[in-house]
Amino acid sequence: MPGIRCGMNGNYQTPAAILQASFLIFARMEKKKEIVMSGIRPTGFLHLGNYFGALMNYVKMQEEYECYFMVADWHSLTTHPDTKELRNSVFRVLAENIAAGINPDKACLYLQSNVPEIAELYLLLNMLAYKGELEKTSTFKEKVRLQPENVNAGLLTYPVLQAADILIHKAKYVPVGKDQQQHLEMARNFAQRFNHRYGEIFPEPEAFNFGEALLKVPSLDGAGKMSKSENQFATLYLSDDDELIRKKVMKAKTDNGPASPDSPKPDYIENLFLLMNLVSEPSAINKFEDDYNRCTIRYGDMKKQLAEDMIRFISPIREKAESICNDKKYLTEVMEKGAAKARKSAKATIELVRQAMSLNYF
Ligand code: ADP
Repeated sequence: MPGIRCGMNGNYQTPAAILQASFLIFARMEKKKEIVMSGIRPTGFLHLGNYFGALMNYVKMQEEYECYFMVADWHSLTTHPDTKELRNSVFRVLAENIAAGINPDKACLYLQSNVPEIAELYLLLNMLAYKGELEKTSTFKEKVRLQPENVNAGLLTYPVLQAADILIHKAKYVPVGKDQQQHLEMARNFAQRFNHRYGEIFPEPEAFNFGEALLKVPSLDGAGKMSKSENQFATLYLSDDDELIRKKVMKAKTDNGPASPDSPKPDYIENLFLLMNLVSEPSAINKFEDDYNRCTIRYGDMKKQLAEDMIRFISPIREKAESICNDKKYLTEVMEKGAAKARKSAKATIELVRQAMSLNYF
């Protein structure tokens, strides 16, 4: 069989050998992809904060990384114990993920409760998490304030479950919004403690936004962040129709405008510019910046522009999500395929964990 001279030593190789070598190189390249994990809770319709804080990066990352993106149904029970709406919400969030650009053939898109290994890791990591540090977590304190009648243990240990979600795939990067920064620090602590006590298993995961600061998309009333379940009239949802978007944006808080040129902007005006930065053309943003600095800004015009730009951005995602959401058969297939892939990865990790902790008895 004729051979081809190749390699450093110039030996002749058969085509079959070359094919096998290339296959091995590709397989190694595949293996080298760094692992990414993130999730969104099915507690309502997705909003602009979910999109720009998380989803937009999921879509970019699916091209270059091995991605695991999860619909976090267990997490939603910490604040939404009534499960009547959960099923619809899971399908809707899956559809919105896909409408925003996630390709389930590239990224693994799955449901948290379909991967029971996460619960096992959660239990084990709970032994490495201390009550004091969990009680100090800002999100816990905020949730206690919001739902004093339901301060459940799941709420307290939310960061541990989140660490398990990430570590079960040995993920290195976690695309999230700014509100999740503290949880990520805790996930790193739990990974370190595990590695220190039982042996190096986990990479220390990092919050990821392509080297930029993590984003917080502010609510339209200037009080806090856009959110699925709180502050609904000050949040722009990917499901909002055009008229509702106009209404919400036009109601955003403004004032009489700056009294002197180049004044600092109050928070609520800064927020409007931030929102404009997400969806408007630079020429429009520059115009209103100049108007602001010259004290000629007309907030009514600025909000009209912002509303139309939001509509241009949101309406195609809304329409796509609606049509995907009606195709339950397709979404079920996506979920099944995602569950199989996520479980394969999770099983491999939990085996290592059991071995490291000497919990493998037979
Ligand atoms: P919510 O707070 O709306 O229930 P989740 O807790 O499900 O959202 O968070 C899903 C992802 O969306 C997380 O990565 C979170 O950081 C991000 N996120 C949520 N709200 C915002 C926001 N207002 N700005 C930026 N990112 C956000």
